Amino acid sequence: MLNRLIADMLPFMPKKLVWVFSRRYIAGETIEEGLLASKLLNQQNIEVTIDLLGEFIETLEEAVSNKDQYINIIEKFTAEKVTGSFSLKPTMFGLLIDEDACYRYIREVVSFAVQKNCFVRIDMEDSQCVDSEIKLFKKLQDEFPKNVGLVVQAYLRRTLSDLMDLKEVNTDEAPLNFRLCKGIYIEPEKVAYKRHDQIREHFLEDLEFMFKNKMYVGIATHDQYLVENAYRLIEQYQVPESMFEFQMLYGVTPELRQSIIDRGHKMRVYVPFGEQWFNYSTRRLKENPKMASHIIKALFIR
Ligand code: FAD
Repeated sequence: MLNRLIADMLPFMPKKLVWVFSRRYIAGETIEEGLLASKLLNQQNIEVTIDLLGEFIETLEEAVSNKDQYINIIEKFTAEKVTGSFSLKPTMFGLLIDEDACYRYIREVVSFAVQKNCFVRIDMEDSQCVDSEIKLFKKLQDEFPKNVGLVVQAYLRRTLSDLMDLKEVNTDEAPLNFRLCKGIYIEPEKVAYKRHDQIREHFLEDLEFMFKNKMYVGIATHDQYLVENAYRLIEQYQVPESMFEFQMLYGVTPELRQSIIDRGHKMRVYVPFGEQWFNYSTRRLKENPKMASHIIKALFIR
């Protein structure tokens, strides 16, 4: 109730106040701030995945501008020798306006990334986007098998079946590369599991399927229970370090993050930055008011 109230009030709060909590989760507004945060993480033996904030745009002009910005980001981050990859949201490239144009813009970004020997991951957005984002991934993966990955969401009822379909194109030479996360959007019950325990159970089911089928997995969670069970599955299937990594969001659970690194596993942090941080923060909160409790903590604990 309190969470919902705070989430609803946020868009009307002064930007400066919202920044007080957002700054813990967002690297800044500019490329320079994104670079600085990434270099600091690299110094701690952590790889990054860079995300320019923005989503659900309304015109193709915005898509072209986002495409140009991503290319510029890839240019700058590689020139500065940041160790990491890039994540992007297809709705930022016009997925819901013109799918073909969206594909062409993302293809341009990926093709530039390939020239720079970089990896691009396609984030998974809400359930209306899943079919098109899988289609987009398959086309890009076919052309750039080692440089593109996709996110899958454990809360979706369809995910295991999607993985089974995608398995057809998995090979030892170019294993499919997924990020497995719980899923952040508010979805209807017929589409997504709702209970915490159900989501955890399906997360582990999907993870086991990926390990068994020799797919590369970015295990993206801050949930200690899932981390412990991921260790168990890694042991059980003798998964080599080259076939998985852990991933976390910028500013979240640094102690758990360090404990994973201390065990010798690869860690990657998702580093979001950009001018759209205010819309992003308030939209996320409206979608998921549970986040408000993290924000209250962030307001008091620095
Ligand atoms: P939770 O049960 O939500 O969290 C476990 C514990 O972590 C909490 O109890 C709390 O202690 C801590 N915690 C979690 N979040 C926060 C926070 N913000 N601040 C402080 N503490 C926190 N979702 C998508 O739908 N699509 C994507 O493409 C996508 N990409 C992601 C990329 C990465 C690298 C990560 C880590 C997550 C991504 N997500 C994405 C979000 C994901 O789906 C979950 O919503 C999010 O990770 C929270 O789930 P959890 O597994 O950490 O478990």
